[in-house]
Amino acid sequence: MAYDDQNIFAKILRGEIPCQTHDECDHTLAFHDIQPQAPTHILVIPKGAYTDMSDFAAHASAEEQAAFIAAIGRAATKAGLTEGGYRIIANSGAHGCQEVPHLHMHILGGEVIGPLRAR
Ligand code: AMP
Repeated sequence: MAYDDQNIFAKILRGEIPCQTHDECDHTLAFHDIQPQAPTHILVIPKGAYTDMSDFAAHASAEEQAAFIAAIGRAATKAGLTEGGYRIIANSGAHGCQEVPHLHMHILGGEVIGPLRAR
């Protein structure tokens, strides 16, 4: 899948659309989901143009990859989720029901998140 630079997260990164920033570093941005699915619902994205985890794993530098992992842990800690726990999810492609084609990790917490899949 080619990267679409008109996706909503690309617009957030360019400052064309506002977001509620939670954390930021040279390679990542974390912000609150606009339609939270839990008391705490944060999205962590790389600043580079990557569609999903497969694209990121294949093409991001080691520095970007390390920064992304660190940013996810940092965002969860900063949100106070470490003690109670949380879930991270990265949807990819059609089967993963990915809506925004820029890699993002959901961090969900603040309550028991429930089973991995609804049955
Ligand atoms: P996904 O289905 O994994 O692609 O998730 C996309 C997520 O982006 C959804 O949880 C949306 O609520 C969220 N989202 C869409 N637009 C915005 C926005 N402008 N600011 C924050 N979150 C957004």
